[in-house]
Amino acid sequence: MILRLSTAFFQTLREAPADAEATSHRLMLRAGLIRQVAGGLYTYLPLGWRIIQKIEAIVREEMDRSGAQEILAPILQPAQLWEETGRIRAYGPELMRLEDRHGRAFVLGPTHEELFTDLVRGVIRSYRQLPITLYQIQDKFRDERRPRFGLLRGREFIMKDAYSFDCDEEGMAASYEAMYQAYVRIFARLGLDTRAVEAQQGAIGGTGGSHEFMAIAPIGEDEIVYCDACDYAANVEKAQGVPSPLPAASSRAETVGQVSLPGVIETGAQAEALGVDRAYVLKTLLYEADGQPIAAILRGDHTLNEAKLAAALGVAEVTPLSEERVRKLLPKATHGYIGPLGLSEQGVGLFVEPDVMALPYAICGSNEEGFLRCGLRPHQAFADARILDLKEVYAGDPCPSCGAPLAAAHGIEVGQVFKLGTKYSAPMGAVYLDEAGQQRPLYMGCYGIGVSRIAAAVVEQSHDEDGIVWPMAVAPAHVHVVIVDMQNEEQRVMGEHLAETLSASGYEVIIDDRQEHAGVKFKDADLLGIPLRMTVGRKAGEGIVELSRRRDRKTVELKVEEIVGIVARLFGENS
Ligand code: ATP
Ligand code: MG
Repeated sequence: MILRLSTAFFQTLREAPADAEATSHRLMLRAGLIRQVAGGLYTYLPLGWRIIQKIEAIVREEMDRSGAQEILAPILQPAQLWEETGRIRAYGPELMRLEDRHGRAFVLGPTHEELFTDLVRGVIRSYRQLPITLYQIQDKFRDERRPRFGLLRGREFIMKDAYSFDCDEEGMAASYEAMYQAYVRIFARLGLDTRAVEAQQGAIGGTGGSHEFMAIAPIGEDEIVYCDACDYAANVEKAQGVPSPLPAASSRAETVGQVSLPGVIETGAQAEALGVDRAYVLKTLLYEADGQPIAAILRGDHTLNEAKLAAALGVAEVTPLSEERVRKLLPKATHGYIGPLGLSEQGVGLFVEPDVMALPYAICGSNEEGFLRCGLRPHQAFADARILDLKEVYAGDPCPSCGAPLAAAHGIEVGQVFKLGTKYSAPMGAVYLDEAGQQRPLYMGCYGIGVSRIAAAVVEQSHDEDGIVWPMAVAPAHVHVVIVDMQNEEQRVMGEHLAETLSASGYEVIIDDRQEHAGVKFKDADLLGIPLRMTVGRKAGEGIVELSRRRDRKTVELKVEEIVGIVARLFGENS
């Protein structure tokens, strides 16, 4: 392949739009890889599309190698399928809905569990046809609350989604493992620094277990904790809390009674005013889950992780109880003085962090402005409450698996794998006949990879102040030939010759044959980030060109005859 910049649909920008916050978003716009159509909607331009196709090719190869079979389902799905599983409501406002001319309801697929389950229930009859894993690569639609960061969070984006169907739990575990290993190979080939972490199952659901693949990058919206001493790693939304040590007690917390502490709202300040350790002053946090009021109760020195609470309750999200509802529930209380006593009598579900139960006594809000209650005995007060691991896990906390201190990092979720069990097959009646002729539900797994998000994640991990530094595996081309002076016949001929020779040897070549100043061409080459640059300049007459590696700018002068051999060597090193 030879792509000529003189005729290509290609334009670089000196400045990115002010609202492009993420490095990858700015660089991909500036390098002429994508154009924004509207918030969260992008067109992939010729060079950007080549990157997507390279990523797709790697994903496809590894999916096929794992035994998965590619199909292509429609994006437009009858809402009826989503009624069958109840996800038409449970999925929430991210689901894009529409009607056809007859008023029939449809959704634009944000994911395809229902559609694939429907497909397979129509085909599979017997255990002899199992296991089976199907996948597709296609556009997905999600009406994200905050589409942002360019390709990292779009409203329309490209996903590879796969679905496995097995006879039983054991089979499902094997299919899951095969897909997990395929993902490990995919991210290694893409040159992405990725870590697999334990994850919540969220809107996809199921209870069998899940891992997310996180590309480590400061811009990542997910926080993960991991252990270098063992292989534990988890999204903080899933990370298991370990019991915290009990700080020294004080009689102030033990003595039963009310204390007046007006105008001191924070648990930290309350603890200080009372001369007790902050751990002993409970936090009572009021939330709403599926319309029901609930209270999460933690030690004063711990922070609630809302995602852990939502997951434990089996809801998509929990939201703080509105001020109006709080006032109705506790007319005399104000912020800072809310406590757990009397809440369950009013129908509020109590969810208590295990560390609270380890306190012999504690201080809490009295549900009356200005007053706290001391001497609460958690064991008695929360005898009927649900005890749940709710606290946020931080770097430095002990690893739940080996006790060494955890490290933390930000990650971009580039893929996720789920054991679904019978979450979709049971309500949709996707069954098979086992060896004994018994009807049984299919055991499913599902597996997503964010193809377009990966392109941006690679840029987040691989760039410098001048532009993108593509790894060879996903670069839009292998070699960028720059003809310094297009007025110079020798340079032109030599540039063309080089491009032809490299292309004939199987390399993908971009040739900058534009009537532009050399400075402009070099700046654009840096911005675009093709791994190898070949500069044809003044020494062209002597048969000498300059080869420069984008990654470390290592530059050598070469005889034209040497070029193919050297490129082959550098290509092998995956520049
Ligand atoms: P997130 O938590 O980032 O919203 P998700 O957990 O909802 O993602 P999944 O349902 O697991 O996403 O989808 C599979 C993959 O699709 C994700 O791992 C991610 O790489 C990609 N993806 C999800 N949402 C988007 C989006 N809005 N834009 C680009 N890629 C996305
Ligand atoms: Mg996910």
